[in-house]
Amino acid sequence: MKKLINNLCVIGTGLIGGSFCLALKESGCCATIIGTGRTEATLIKAQSLKIIDSYSMDISEAVKDADVVFVSVPLGAMESVFTQISAGLKQAGNDSAVITDAGSSKQEVIRIADKVFADNANHFVAGHPIAGTEKSGPESAFAELYNDRRVILTPTDNTDADAVKLITALWEMTGATVESMAADHHDKVLAATSHLPHVIAFGLVHCLENMDDIEDVFRFAAGGFRDVTRIASSDPTMWRDICLNNQQPILEMMKRYRDELDMLYNALEAGDGDKLIEVFEHAKNTRDKFTH
Ligand code: NAP
Repeated sequence: MKKLINNLCVIGTGLIGGSFCLALKESGCCATIIGTGRTEATLIKAQSLKIIDSYSMDISEAVKDADVVFVSVPLGAMESVFTQISAGLKQAGNDSAVITDAGSSKQEVIRIADKVFADNANHFVAGHPIAGTEKSGPESAFAELYNDRRVILTPTDNTDADAVKLITALWEMTGATVESMAADHHDKVLAATSHLPHVIAFGLVHCLENMDDIEDVFRFAAGGFRDVTRIASSDPTMWRDICLNNQQPILEMMKRYRDELDMLYNALEAGDGDKLIEVFEHAKNTRDKFTH
């Protein structure tokens, strides 16, 4: 097939970056993939799993011949990584590379990209795949992760239209469908659908942890407990960064949820079965409507 690009550089070869590489390799749309990141053992593992063709421990060096740089590191590492990308591209005189990311919140990433890339910020396309698992690292990556999943791009008025087209085409090669929306809208929607559920799952397990009969609680944990808490096995550093980077929208959702819990608490305390049925029926209908 015709190559979309020659050189892809992936910074952070874990679940998200590794799966992106594996899917693009299967599609045959880019000639070579170089990986870079923080820990050499991770890059050696990624190379042995054929996620990347080669690696460099120096981010500035790794990006110099890239047509596209894909950044899939935790949000807290974005600023330092962007700074190294910018230095490497400037040194190599490569001002046509398109940079994109996979971070789970978008307004803060765009603010950092505008600051660090400055005149070249129009070549940054902010993105977020709505796909993932609770696992981390290159061993957890698989080529089908993005198949039939959505990817949200949040270009600004300044973003180069050809850069958006190229990143859209690459994501489509992974089997994903690409949609665009404003970054503030993205952050509000994801606070509701992903970030609040993770905070609830972490909070629920943490709250049970302090019970006296904790051994029995986990020994008899049934399907419901597993369904609701699966995502509490996600990486704590990644989720700390997501919470801090999308603080206000998440706080707003936590307040809504706290009010809802208070309402349910009051209904139960009053023995108000009608209220419980009303809420449970509404919730069941809404979930059935949107998930079937
Ligand atoms: P992951 O599996 O832990 O991979 C992260 C990668 O980044 C690892 O290779 C890690 O290498 C590297 N890294 C960490 N800190 C670094 C630093 N300071 N400098 C350079 N490299 C560094 O995490 P992931 O799930 O792929 O998540 C990556 C990004 O995708 C995050 O921004 C997250 O918000 C976003 N995202 C995640 C999901 C999900 O469900 N997991 C879904 C959508 C978007 P080491 O071996 O050194 O740690």
